[in-house]
Amino acid sequence: MEYSKLSAGLEYFESVDFNFYSIVRDVMYLCNTLIVDKNVKLEVDLDTSIPEILVGDPSKLSQILLNVLGNAIKFVEKGDIHLKIMQHEQSGDQFVLEFDITDTGIGISEDNLKHIFDSFKQAELGTYATYGGSGLGLSIVKQIIEKLDGQITVESDLGIGTTFKFTLPYKKGNDTKILKGKINPNELEGSSELVKGMRILVFEDNILNQKLIEQRLRIWGCITYITDNPLNGLAILENKRVDIVLMDLRMPKMDGFEVTKRIRKSKNGYVREIPIIALTADFTIKDKDQCNANGINDYILKPYSPDELLSKLLKNKNNMETIHAIESNIISPRTNKIDKSPKIDLAIILEECMGEVGLLEELVTLYKQNALEFIGQVKLHLKNTDFNQLEFATHKIKAGLAMMQTFSLHKIVEQMHKICQTEKDIKYLEFLYDCFLMEYPIVEKAINMELENIRRNRKQ
Ligand code: ADP
Repeated sequence: MEYSKLSAGLEYFESVDFNFYSIVRDVMYLCNTLIVDKNVKLEVDLDTSIPEILVGDPSKLSQILLNVLGNAIKFVEKGDIHLKIMQHEQSGDQFVLEFDITDTGIGISEDNLKHIFDSFKQAELGTYATYGGSGLGLSIVKQIIEKLDGQITVESDLGIGTTFKFTLPYKKGNDTKILKGKINPNELEGSSELVKGMRILVFEDNILNQKLIEQRLRIWGCITYITDNPLNGLAILENKRVDIVLMDLRMPKMDGFEVTKRIRKSKNGYVREIPIIALTADFTIKDKDQCNANGINDYILKPYSPDELLSKLLKNKNNMETIHAIESNIISPRTNKIDKSPKIDLAIILEECMGEVGLLEELVTLYKQNALEFIGQVKLHLKNTDFNQLEFATHKIKAGLAMMQTFSLHKIVEQMHKICQTEKDIKYLEFLYDCFLMEYPIVEKAINMELENIRRNRKQ
């Protein structure tokens, strides 16, 4: 993750009416999906006197919660993670919420605790590859909280657990300012079949929203491309068949109106006509005019229910034929951790190693070295727009990826290789590289687990 993207979170702060409970619910839902194969229990204890509708920045709140809870999930193998939300210091319609996140994880040493909020070192490749870049880093979290006039503290005992506490001030909000979709769920029964196979490109920079929308769309059998990078998104539109675009109006690098303008100016007639649905939290009349003026077809107010999303997709699908696309041909970035690990079968390779686990281990080490070298080199060649070197690097790694049966990575690299030889589209290559970066840690984890299984079986 680039530093620019991390710091970008500090530039946009909004103050809108939002449903606090639905943010907490969404965050908890998502965090639960991050807990895989672990004996970890995630609980929330919420002071129910907190008003349902608050005024503040819902997106920042979810980012903060996801980051702190995400860390807890990472560092607890077994035990509890407890989120407690309390209401303090009421004066008029203003009050402070206190969030306590306690875990029974590995804890943090005293030395590390001193620096835990220190300025985030530029997210290095290693960090990115290991964690998939989903975290903001606690220093950014602290900066966001302080910009919102809150405070964050931490207490931890090594081997026992950690508690992060933070406060954020809010005002009671106004329900009527949140427009609600008038949808009768009965009308939608069975409709999700109608969006199956639809290819949907989502421009969205908020990680929580990215993951939620991806989950929803995937459940309905849609094929999703999700990006927070407008230029990558535009490249996807030019290179892939997309049926509908969902557009977050507020993105740090280029706002949704600007992206829409560019889509409507495309040389490709199909792209120019593509239905665009805006996603927005604060929909004002001005925006509505702007929507019309900028060629946005429809809008959905955040937070929205699955039914609202489904109904908008159906409405804007028009007469477009639904394609039951073959997923295997589609490359989309995983918003990592949600997906189950890919199945890696090292047994065949072990056979080729004549049953020598030591040899297999060497191959795996070599594989990892090659992959990391590839990641480093491609980053550089992309920066220099050096298609020859890119072609060479992608060619070089292909065989190893195939040998290790890591087909999800192989597919991405093969596509990159092809683009180097044909269209030479740097934006699309960057997108594919992002896909690789997100996929690699998941694959590596699956390999490690498989290797561990083989070792264990040997010992028995
Ligand atoms: P990252 O997780 O990307 O390394 P963070 O700034 O979010 O960056 O966290 C910094 C470090 O603080 C983590 O790498 C970890 O060592 C430690 N840490 C954070 N939260 C916890 C926790 N709940 N339990 C144990 N260690 C933690």
